[in-house]
Amino acid sequence: MAHIIDGKAIAASARLDIAQRGQAFFEKTGIRPGLAVVIVGEDPASKVYVRNKKKGCEEAGFYSEVHEMPAETTMDELLSKIDELKNNEKIHGILVQLPLPKHLDEKAVIDAIPTEKDVDAFHPVNTGKIMIGDYNFLPCTPAGVMKMLEYEKIDVSGKECVVIGRSNIVGKPMAMLLLHANGTVTVCHSRTKDLAEVTRRADILVVAIGKANFVTADMVKEGAVVIDVGMNRNAEGKLCGDVDFEGVKEKASAITPVPGGVGVMTITMLLENTLRAAELAANR
Ligand code: NAP
Repeated sequence: MAHIIDGKAIAASARLDIAQRGQAFFEKTGIRPGLAVVIVGEDPASKVYVRNKKKGCEEAGFYSEVHEMPAETTMDELLSKIDELKNNEKIHGILVQLPLPKHLDEKAVIDAIPTEKDVDAFHPVNTGKIMIGDYNFLPCTPAGVMKMLEYEKIDVSGKECVVIGRSNIVGKPMAMLLLHANGTVTVCHSRTKDLAEVTRRADILVVAIGKANFVTADMVKEGAVVIDVGMNRNAEGKLCGDVDFEGVKEKASAITPVPGGVGVMTITMLLENTLRAAELAANR
């Protein structure tokens, strides 16, 4: 039976450290790290994420602003909001909650966020910096996974790492971070032939697909570390991951649950990035 990786406990410890560093930064500079979150429309899941981000800031002693904009907001209005936040000295990090309503151009919005305030690390410049291993910010979810592995003292170096999913926000940067940590990395996606044959090679399997209970025990090597990034609702409306937790936990050596796994780490890394952005601003 696998060791259950306790995301909540790791996040609590990491957040305490961030809060202490934030307080020390405030005592030295008189500046509170500040995050602005912009949300457009009424998507209920997005509203929960935004509320949790604000709460995370308050608990860490950070300054935060939430800008709620109506679903019919135009591109010009959203870009001028970003421009206003770009010039606001109290704000070190700007996050536009995705997904945006269909009529808005997500790519153009990401491009408009100044790279030094891009705490989601979605801007192409920051994405490119991650590729070459010379970055200020890491995207929060993959960074949260790496933090968990570090806390659990799971060494990536030389390990067979398989990532299922190749999205720009999770799969691709996840693969890059595992590569930087000297893992031997394979990325799978919907066109991968014989997926189970590939996933069974993994010492560390990271799953980011978006399909409830997709990865079953027969797809996992005995003793593998299984990290479940998925956040889905099952038929009963309950939150669940991409991994069949009950089956896979009997075979893995360590596994993250959903909820209580990667999800709580994501906001933790957002706080880390906000502190980093404030430190960089103070040094400029
Ligand atoms: P996404 O953009 O929809 O990407 C899903 C990926 O899974 C794609 O690369 C897709 O392949 C691949 N895929 C789909 N079906 C597959 C199959 N049958 N076999 C192999 N690969 C398959 O999703 P995402 O944004 O990366 O998110 C993935 C999951 O993580 C979702 O459940 C999301 O809610 C969750 N998530 C959680 C957090 C967190 O904080 N815990 C943060 C972000 C996302 P193709 O590229 O070939 O289509």
